[in-house]
Amino acid sequence: MEKRTLQTARSKAMFKKARTLIPGGVNSPVRAGKAVGMDPLFIGKAEGCNLWDVDGNKYIDFVCSWGPMILGHSHPDVVSALAERIDKGTSYGAPTELEVQLAEAITKLVPSVEMVRMVNSGTEAVMSAVRLARGATGRDKIVKFDGCYHGHGDSLLVSAGSGVATLGIPGCPGIPEGLACSTISLPFNDLKAVAAAFKSHGREIAAVIVEPIPGNMGVVIPEEGFLEGLREITLRHDSLLIFDEVITGFRVSPGGAQLLFGILPDLTCLGKIIGGGLPVGAYGGRRDLMEQVAPEGPIYQAGTLSGNPLAMTAGIATLKALEKAGTYRELDQKGEILFEGILKAASSAGVNIVVNRVGSMGTLFFTGKAVKDFASAKACDTDKFRQFYTRMLQQGIYLAPSAFECWFLSTAHDEESLRYAIECARNSFASL
Ligand SMILES: *Cc1c(COP(=O)(O)O)cnc(C)c1O
Repeated sequence: MEKRTLQTARSKAMFKKARTLIPGGVNSPVRAGKAVGMDPLFIGKAEGCNLWDVDGNKYIDFVCSWGPMILGHSHPDVVSALAERIDKGTSYGAPTELEVQLAEAITKLVPSVEMVRMVNSGTEAVMSAVRLARGATGRDKIVKFDGCYHGHGDSLLVSAGSGVATLGIPGCPGIPEGLACSTISLPFNDLKAVAAAFKSHGREIAAVIVEPIPGNMGVVIPEEGFLEGLREITLRHDSLLIFDEVITGFRVSPGGAQLLFGILPDLTCLGKIIGGGLPVGAYGGRRDLMEQVAPEGPIYQAGTLSGNPLAMTAGIATLKALEKAGTYRELDQKGEILFEGILKAASSAGVNIVVNRVGSMGTLFFTGKAVKDFASAKACDTDKFRQFYTRMLQQGIYLAPSAFECWFLSTAHDEESLRYAIECARNSFASL
């Protein structure tokens, strides 16, 4: 194994200072590295599939900013579009042609989205979609699934995945009891539990919200019939189906998971990729629902920086680059090379792992049993993951510092970087 002791003095010093100024030293808890017992690295620059920390160490990046950077970092088309735009001002608080262009691209590509409203984050997209669902149905209850993360809005921070799962936070102080109890959280892939919830509360359920391919408890694959079942039961009870495609939108196909599986939700939440690395979210769906949003309708939702011209520019350039023929096939092939290689390396080292992957998003779980919901994800060996994480980092492989996250690939990950990552995994497994 290539022995490389990382020199990270500058990151360490900056983190020490950051902790005195910012809670936990980070602006989003998942970055802190608590679960793997490491301090976070401070990043100085990024290009293609590589990151450099402020001490000058170079890494192959499998976090991709937690999903948005599907073209890799500093993609020339995105950079030049932004450079050209920035001279024209950065925010006007008035409509621009760019918003219409991005809305047109999204409604053309995402099958169920007839109208769309831009916001500034995935969290905001979900909060707004939930408000719309409640307003449109006149009902309060929301059904979600254990281990799915839908941003940090009050209603959905119950049994949530991602950082909440990583830090093992059970409930979150500050969320009113009344709100928490209008959320029903059920096991993913369990249609019986959904049927039971509708049997007792059918008339009170405004919507079922789901990550159609969960990525926030690690990647979990919906079983045959599960999403179809959600569509059917929501239709039967006049509830709405919300797909949270903040990760899967433009990640698993040009039209998200809904195109991949051929299921039309009523509302869709987007984020991450549609901002090309700038802060953006969006929610959209059926025209008759979206027309109930202010100022067309009474359901209020607004944003000073929503539809920001630079964010729209990055999003438009990203979606345009993704239109290149063969992009999603290429991303899938990269995912196959990487995860098949890792699986083989684990198997020859006698390490039990399970890989769940859809295209360019995948997770390896340190367990011998299938992972199909949050309970089975949580049964994986997080201590093994922590050791694996540390060894990978020492060899220059930058992974999300949690056993419950995805690895993301970009078009910028070339075969050489994937082969190198497989070699590093082989070395890491050997010493587990
Ligand atoms: C990241 C994420 C969100 C929240 O998006 P932010 O931009 O972090 O607020 C919501 N839903 C899913 C599925 C996500 O992965």
